[in-house]
Amino acid sequence: MENRHHHRHNYALKMELKKQVNIAAGLVSERFPSVSGIVIHMTYYREAATPVLMVRTINIYPTSYAYFKMDCMIKSCDGGGFDLTSVVANMVKTHAKVKKGSLVCNGNVDALPSGHASVDYETVIQYKRASKETP
Ligand SMILES: [Zn+2]
Repeated sequence: MENRHHHRHNYALKMELKKQVNIAAGLVSERFPSVSGIVIHMTYYREAATPVLMVRTINIYPTSYAYFKMDCMIKSCDGGGFDLTSVVANMVKTHAKVKKGSLVCNGNVDALPSGHASVDYETVIQYKRASKETP
């Protein structure tokens, strides 16, 4: 049984929570000062006859929030998504420029098993030119 009002309220709540999460994450320039830009190419797949759902390129700047969790593209998915935060953090730590991989959504969708959606990603990080900062 679906309660549409309840769902709408949940959506507003989700957006509000997302805003708070963004603010809590801080800015890329604060969290990853050596980064001058990040480009994430994502291909979304779903368990269906036409598996490729969409292809997306996300540009992240030093002024962007350091929040790299992408939403699941399945509308009714609850608690799902694709979190690239640890991928980005590890890349910055090792000064890696390109990383490819894939993630599976573990969110809950009525009538769909987890693993209903996945992404292939290619993350490209550009670093600021190493300039000796004199104090
Ligand atoms: Zn999902």
